[in-house]
Amino acid sequence: MALYVQKFGGTSVGSVERIKAVAEKVKGFRDQGHQIVVVLSAMSGETNRLIGLANEINDEPTPREMDMLVSTGEQVTISLLAMALHKLGVPATSYTGSQVGILTDSSHTKARIQRIETDEMREDLDDNKVVVVAGFQGVDEEGNITTLGRGGSDTTGVALAAALKADECQIYTDVDGVYTTDPRVCSKAQRLDTITVEEMLELASLGSKVLQIRAVEFAGKYNVPLRVLSSFQDGPGTLIVADSDQDEDSMEEPLISGIAFTANEAKLTLLNTPDVPGVASRILGPIADANIEVDMIVQNVAPAGDYTDFTFTVAKGDYKQTMKILQEQVLPDLGEGEVKGDDNIAKVSLVGVGMRSHAGVASKMFRVLADENVNIRMVSTSEIKISVVIDEKHMELAVKALHKAFGLDKSDIESE
Ligand code: ASP
Ligand code: MG
Repeated sequence: MALYVQKFGGTSVGSVERIKAVAEKVKGFRDQGHQIVVVLSAMSGETNRLIGLANEINDEPTPREMDMLVSTGEQVTISLLAMALHKLGVPATSYTGSQVGILTDSSHTKARIQRIETDEMREDLDDNKVVVVAGFQGVDEEGNITTLGRGGSDTTGVALAAALKADECQIYTDVDGVYTTDPRVCSKAQRLDTITVEEMLELASLGSKVLQIRAVEFAGKYNVPLRVLSSFQDGPGTLIVADSDQDEDSMEEPLISGIAFTANEAKLTLLNTPDVPGVASRILGPIADANIEVDMIVQNVAPAGDYTDFTFTVAKGDYKQTMKILQEQVLPDLGEGEVKGDDNIAKVSLVGVGMRSHAGVASKMFRVLADENVNIRMVSTSEIKISVVIDEKHMELAVKALHKAFGLDKSDIESE
């Protein structure tokens, strides 16, 4: 007998039929003798609908009232699921975050969980009841309802699993696991059986939106076995494991676990800027002041040594504003130089803990791209990641070529 925390996302509870299907699924696990805590999101689209209503009334609603409003979406699904379980003869009780004792700080709309009281849940579980908890919400010391940020139900699930020392936190969603890359771009992408927390964090921050990043961090910190699976079809999904659980000398360990990519960045270059101390901060300072996040940074020193080129990337949506800051603030401040920009770029990244112990991943990556005639504009590396910036028009070609070259393609037999 195991204790599972099972979180179902918005599409999994998007209609009365889907809610009934979740009830059947939960009943199936309980019939096998497992204890189940269910965490639910609001019906898909509901949170956005509520935010829309607020904005029709007041374009600056207070965060406290926002939380009061958006937390209602989850209250609908938990009560309906409890009713659906009752209909199947399964004893179940639904609880809001406040009722179940999910205590957070008071940062409305982005609250952090501080403590979870588990006594009541334990009592229910011992009485053979299914516990159904509203995701995404908690309560602060003063009794105000708080929410954990968009996608926060994932974090509720992992936090409950940690507090209850559950055997596994299972995140049921509309994909059947974490893939080597986006299957919509590369049809040879395959589901990974396992991935480490570290790799998952890199992939998530690079734009694969399977799980809320905070939930993955939480799972890593508290060692919660976390599994992503489909709520629509049966299958093992992908298990996200703590890095230490990975067998260090495993011969099977792949070099690369996944390829992330995004066309959502733009690059800007300052040419011929004086090479003196403080230049980098004079360039990036005004950009940080405007709250624009900079991703990759490359500085080249000219052979003569007194001039440099400085290139960096920002989100595409920040491109125009960044360009303006460079032209209107930074250049006048530096006194010389020239600005160039390109928003038709893509960033492609190889991610894998296997990289740590193997040299030559970068050179192989560059060779594969060269063979495809793909020009590399920028490179950055970390311990388990290599990213390149290329022209956007080459993104798909690069992803497919790298996917094949690093042995990630599923076999043609499997892929029909
Ligand atoms: N309903 C919330 C949202 O849409 C929380 C969640 O779905 O995880 O962001
Ligand atoms: Mg979600």
